[in-house]
Amino acid sequence: MNKKHLVNCDICHHRCKIALGAYGFCGIRQNLDGKLVNQGYGKITALALDPIEKKPLYRFYPGSAILSVGSLGCNMNCSFCQNHHIARLRLDSAEPNSVWESYTPKALVELAIETKKQGNRGLAFTYNEPLINYEFIIDCAKKMKEMDSELKVVLVTNGHLEIAHAKKLLPYVDAANIDLKAFRKAFYTKMGGDFSLVKAFIEEAVKNCHVELCYLLIPGLNDGLDEVEEAAEWIASLDCTGQGPLENGKDIPLHISRFFPTYKLVDRAATSVSAVYEAVAVAKKHLNWVYPGNV
Ligand code: SF4
Repeated sequence: MNKKHLVNCDICHHRCKIALGAYGFCGIRQNLDGKLVNQGYGKITALALDPIEKKPLYRFYPGSAILSVGSLGCNMNCSFCQNHHIARLRLDSAEPNSVWESYTPKALVELAIETKKQGNRGLAFTYNEPLINYEFIIDCAKKMKEMDSELKVVLVTNGHLEIAHAKKLLPYVDAANIDLKAFRKAFYTKMGGDFSLVKAFIEEAVKNCHVELCYLLIPGLNDGLDEVEEAAEWIASLDCTGQGPLENGKDIPLHISRFFPTYKLVDRAATSVSAVYEAVAVAKKHLNWVYPGNV
C-alpha cells in the first residue's frame, strides 16, 4: 500500500489509517479520493417517538417523549450489542439505500416540531453509536436552535469521541446517557473500546450538560461488586463545574441494568434480579440516584 494514499482519522481511539476507497472501523468514514468523508451523514435507519425514560433519562423532563433517531455503524464491537443489525452495518457492504433514508437536518427538525403536540421534547441520537457521525448532530442542533429553541438535543452513546472533537459537540448537547460498560480496561479492550477515552468523555460531558450513566451488569464479565463500587466512587468524585446543570458527582444518576443473552453473548443466563439490586445497594453508598433497569 502506498502510504501517500492513506488518510488518518482522529475522531476516536481507533485512529484509523484508511486506504483509498476503503472505510474505517466504524464503517461510515471513507477515504474518498484522498479525503476523509463522513458517508453516514444524514443516513437514518430508525425513527421513533420514545418515552424519555427509555433512553434511559430519568431526571431530564420526566414524562415527556423524545424523537429518537438512529443511523448506522459503531466504533465498538460489543458481543452483547442489542442493535447489531444497524451498529454492525458498514457502508462498504450494505446495499445502497436498502436500510436507510436520507434526511437533512432541517427535515428532522421539522419532524421534531410536528411531534411536539405528542409530547416530543427534541431529538435523541441513539440506537447505533451517534458520535461517529457527530457533525450531523451539530448541524441538527444548530438548525433546531434556529427553528425552535425549546427543543433539546439528547445523546445516547458509548462515549468514544476524542476530546478535541467532544469540545466542539458538547456545547450543543442538553442531555446525554453514556454507557459505562465496565470499570476495567481489559473489558473495554476486548469490546473494541478504550477505557481511558470513555472516562475522559464522561469527565468532559458532566461539565457541559445533564448526564446519566448506564452500567449493564453482565454475569461473569463486569458484575463484581468491587468493580461496581469502584465505578460508583469514581462517578461521585467527578468535577461537574462548568456550563452543565449538575452540581456534584454524587447527583449523577446511574442506571444498573439487567443483561439478557443476545447477539454473540448467549453462553450465560440473564442477570438475576437480586444481583441487580445488590449492585444498586453498593452503588448507593456513593451516589444519590441509582436505578435498577430491565427488572
Ligand atoms: S471515527 Fe471511524 S474511521 Fe474515524 S478513527 Fe473512529 S472508527 Fe476509525
